[in-house]
Amino acid sequence: MADARVLKIYAGKVIAIDGPAGSGKSTIARRIAAALGFTYLDTGAMYRATAWIANEKKLDLTDQDNLHQLLVGWDVRLIVEEGKNKVYFGEEEITEAIRSAAVTARVSEVAAEPIIREFLVAVQRKYLKSGSVVLEGRDTGTVVAPRADVKIYLDAEMKTRAMRRMLEYIQDGKDTTLEEQTKKMSYRDQQDLNRAVGPLKKAPDAVVIDTTELNIEEVTDKVLRVCKARMSGAKAGSGK
Ligand code: C5P
Repeated sequence: MADARVLKIYAGKVIAIDGPAGSGKSTIARRIAAALGFTYLDTGAMYRATAWIANEKKLDLTDQDNLHQLLVGWDVRLIVEEGKNKVYFGEEEITEAIRSAAVTARVSEVAAEPIIREFLVAVQRKYLKSGSVVLEGRDTGTVVAPRADVKIYLDAEMKTRAMRRMLEYIQDGKDTTLEEQTKKMSYRDQQDLNRAVGPLKKAPDAVVIDTTELNIEEVTDKVLRVCKARMSGAKAGSGK
């Protein structure tokens, strides 16, 4: 946990961490937030929650009325409870549900919808007003917080990323194969890289870190070093 002096020095700073699935973003973003005492914002969880609602309500999103209905009733909250990041839709906890195979299969399609992106980017920007934040996603350094104090782009070879995801599944007691995870990840990469609005893209001023050969500790150390160097040398301005 960060001490009071660290909190004061970095008050109001924004760190944006982007990259493809399996690059280590979530783990690293969480660790950096904890080390610096920042709020952690998983923007992917918002897209997942939106896909979950669309699935639950069986909404065909090519219909504008359905899109409208989805966003009007978007009562999603990302909170920390008992030290854990949790996701709620109304009073229902959906933390686990948004990680299901059905949601993962649909989320990129939902995330490609410009109205949904516009809506969620506005929600995400409101979180920036609340103080020091680590944002994690696909477009946080390019669209959500283009003036972020630190931008990191994590990447890794496909085989490594798919292997990491496969191990996560197995740890959770779910059956899968490397082939299945590689196929699903390649599909999601293609969707995320090629959509017209807010595609997965490296910001020109992002520091790129290839995590293929690195363990979690090594990546955390590297990212933390970059963050501290950039934030102490950063000009005045909150990056919002
Ligand atoms: O980060 P995670 O893999 O949970 O994100 C799920 C999906 O949400 C991504 O594959 C992408 O389609 C979408 N997403 C996005 N923009 C973000 C974060 C996630 O489009 N900033």
